[in-house]
Amino acid sequence: LLPTLVHFYLYRAKAPTSLPSFLVLGPSGSGKTSLVTLFESGKPSPTHISQAPSTVQVHLPSTTRAGSSQYRSENDPTLKQEKPLQLIDTPGHGKLRHYAREYLQDPPPGLKGIIFVIDAANVSSDSSSSANETLQDAAEYLHDILLLLQKRYTSAKTSKGPKELPVLIAANKLDLFTALPAPLLKGKLEQEISRVRDARAKGLMAAGMGEEGSEERDWLGEGGESKFEFRMMEEVNCPVKVVGGNVLGAEGSDVDGWWGWIAGWL
Ligand code: GDP
Repeated sequence: LLPTLVHFYLYRAKAPTSLPSFLVLGPSGSGKTSLVTLFESGKPSPTHISQAPSTVQVHLPSTTRAGSSQYRSENDPTLKQEKPLQLIDTPGHGKLRHYAREYLQDPPPGLKGIIFVIDAANVSSDSSSSANETLQDAAEYLHDILLLLQKRYTSAKTSKGPKELPVLIAANKLDLFTALPAPLLKGKLEQEISRVRDARAKGLMAAGMGEEGSEERDWLGEGGESKFEFRMMEEVNCPVKVVGGNVLGAEGSDVDGWWGWIAGWL
């Protein structure tokens, strides 16, 4: 019996309690399922419409180094071991976004970060024209997620606050010539999120809530009337980064930047 117990104890002690995981979010059609499938199987394949969250196990490519191993020697055999992690794909349809919100309200212990996928090819680059529906929808969704992350920090019971939860905005479909490069998309999103925030605040005022002094003022970013900027999220332990790439494309996929970001948080 004793050897069995020892074996059991050792096995339990070594078994990972939870794999590091990343939550994949974004509006429908942005490429979430394509991305998860590519990361899982190494090749893009036709996707289906997802109705419920699904979790897949993927491995960091051997060419990408995890942040925790960046000081290891090239010859260190542990570098050759594949690093498993999980991607949790959530449906992006408006009515199904509660899945993602529920995850963030009570994040699983292994959650390392959030990947918000956006279709960068379907965003008007004309700065004078008002945002198109795709951008508006993405900005509203992103605003709500960031507000949730901000609340997680401001309502934390401990003085240290909750642990860092980084957000990657994956500007997808950069293979298409209409696509906006990541830095431009970033500016557009900040502008549009500011607009969402102002509209929400006005709506609350009209309803007699959210006035100055009211405790539940759902205002994303710093107080005051300045434009929202992603860097403000650092104050609430959520560093945001916008990185371009493409899952599909005539010349193959380009997802190195996203793997690099993931690796940095492992
Ligand atoms: P989801 O609704 O966010 O899961 O989006 P899907 O993964 O189903 O992708 C939506 C559509 O965009 C599909 O027709 C994909 O083939 C297409 N798509 C996804 N990624 C890319 C990309 O990087 N480039 C191009 N050109 N099309 C893409």
